[in-house]
Amino acid sequence: MNPSISLQNGELVTILIEKKEAPFISLRWVLLITYVIVGIIPLLLMANTILHSIEEYFIEERKKELLSEANVIAGQLASYDFFVNETNQEALQEMILTTSQDEDFRVLILDSAARVVYDTGYEEVGKTYLLPEVLEALENKDIAKEQRDGTVYAAASIVGSGSQHDGVVLIADSLQDVSDTVGNIAGKAYFLLATLLVIVIIVMIVTSQLFTEPLKRMIQVIQKMAEGHLEQRIVVKNRTHNEIVDLALSCNHMADQLEKVESSRQQFVSNVSHELKTPLSSIKVLSESILLQEDVPKEMYVEFLHDINSEIDRMSAIINDLLTLVKLDQKEIPLNFAESDLNHMMEGIIKRLTPLADVKQIQMHYTKEKDVLAVVDEMKLTLAISNLVDNAVKYTPEGGSVQVTLDADHQNAFITVTDTGIGIPEEEVNRIFERFYRVDKTRDRETGGTGLGLSITYATVMMHNGSIKVNSKENEGTTMQVRIPLRQTHTAV
Ligand code: ADP
Repeated sequence: MNPSISLQNGELVTILIEKKEAPFISLRWVLLITYVIVGIIPLLLMANTILHSIEEYFIEERKKELLSEANVIAGQLASYDFFVNETNQEALQEMILTTSQDEDFRVLILDSAARVVYDTGYEEVGKTYLLPEVLEALENKDIAKEQRDGTVYAAASIVGSGSQHDGVVLIADSLQDVSDTVGNIAGKAYFLLATLLVIVIIVMIVTSQLFTEPLKRMIQVIQKMAEGHLEQRIVVKNRTHNEIVDLALSCNHMADQLEKVESSRQQFVSNVSHELKTPLSSIKVLSESILLQEDVPKEMYVEFLHDINSEIDRMSAIINDLLTLVKLDQKEIPLNFAESDLNHMMEGIIKRLTPLADVKQIQMHYTKEKDVLAVVDEMKLTLAISNLVDNAVKYTPEGGSVQVTLDADHQNAFITVTDTGIGIPEEEVNRIFERFYRVDKTRDRETGGTGLGLSITYATVMMHNGSIKVNSKENEGTTMQVRIPLRQTHTAV
């Protein structure tokens, strides 16, 4: 339903328009119709053509046969002077009658005026037969022709001794037996085709079932997923692979990913709530303890307000980091790529963070291996690298050292931050880029970290199409190396 809202006489009217859905045509029918068109129709056409050719062949053979019979008879009549010698006539007629009965056709003898003088059917004697075949034979062109009524006429001229045409032998024969034979073959052929059609339909129904059944099951599962049941999976039993199995596996993989996204979203929301709740609870406890006490000394006020202030600072730091992350997540906001002097950027970062290192008597060293110009979003990358250097200082005990290096090859810039700090346990290294993830949950309240710094760094580096490598050993130190391509092939990320 597609609601359309309009104003009628000042009243708001919502009209629900039925959305026209495209008609559903099952794949099964498409396959079946295709098979019938591609498989059966050409066979039918071929069978028809073959049957037609067979019929023509039979008819042609029959014509030749009859013509040769007519010629034999005509030859005999000529040699025994049928029209002149009456004594021979009876014997010749007897012979012709026997042939006609044996061969089951009718023989007529016509004189040169096309008058029937003898007919094995006895019906037409005395009649004049001005048939085209007779006329042609009288002109010495022997001919056999098929008639509309399903008979064949074969006419042969009787040439007398003086090479003049004495008459014509006309044989008339029915083609019923040819039609019967061809009809018989056609019947068998069509029966075969009908059987084939039934087999094709059965095979199609079975094979299309094989295709459409898993697809139907997949659609049901996907529809359930769309309703929010992300735990649904398509059961794949096949031991072999095909496109449908791959599709099902891809759907399951997509569902896994969706579930992960959903659970990390829930985790994120619960982390944010938890992170903000802790300073809020402290503020509540601090303020209540002042409110509930009478005659609170001024110094206590100042101290408690100082604590409240630092909790507010902490909340504000968390919210700022969250906002930065949200902005990085909105990929439609493009990075501000411009060619930057990375050495200049690094010097700025080191200058800002050295006082922090000094407080802990940490030696901060910066080495520039070469001048590096790279196309980056300098502001965002500065924040990302500052987080790394800041962490190196935070997680290195007093008296330690932090070494920062800038280097490049012809494709990438490399920024390496090495500290002699507490290190990260091996099993935790993969998780430090997760939002709010901290190795030591209690320590961070002292260090003031939000658990979001490395997430910001990671997102920024990814948007620059770079990568981060971590090498760390507990109680020895950590090395983080950022690789950033010098040029961005597609600037809008
Ligand atoms: P935080 O604000 O807590 O520093 P980060 O996202 O920057 O959050 O870092 C995540 C966690 O990774 C930190 O809590 C810390 O446990 C660990 N970590 C990061 N950098 C270092 C480092 N240089 N040495 C040791 N641990 C580190």
